[in-house]
Amino acid sequence: MKLTKIFYVRHELFHQWFGDLVTAESWSNITLNESFATYGEYLWREYKYGKANADELLEEFILYTRLNGMMGGADKKLVRYDYHRADDVFDVVSYQKGALILHMRSVMKLGMLRLGRELKNT
Ligand SMILES: [Zn+2]
Repeated sequence: MKLTKIFYVRHELFHQWFGDLVTAESWSNITLNESFATYGEYLWREYKYGKANADELLEEFILYTRLNGMMGGADKKLVRYDYHRADDVFDVVSYQKGALILHMRSVMKLGMLRLGRELKNT
């Protein structure tokens, strides 16, 4: 992932809500801050450049999550209480995997709403 200034700006802007207003109780829950801020990057790109462009970012999230799994991180949970140092939870699981789960949840919700409308009209 090419990290540019705008990447940091949009990520940190989302921390105004998830990180500042909503704050994790402990390092174990840091994914609350980071997955929402990372997913916010996707939402911003979708708004600014369109879905196809934003989906390229999702592909990067998927790639990093898969690589992490291949390197032995597949069993890592989003919320972890078994870390040794706070830095241990600032990883692809807390950021990209969490963002992918938020995206999946969003897509499923839209699909259920659409299905509900279609069933209502049949
Ligand atoms: Zn962050």
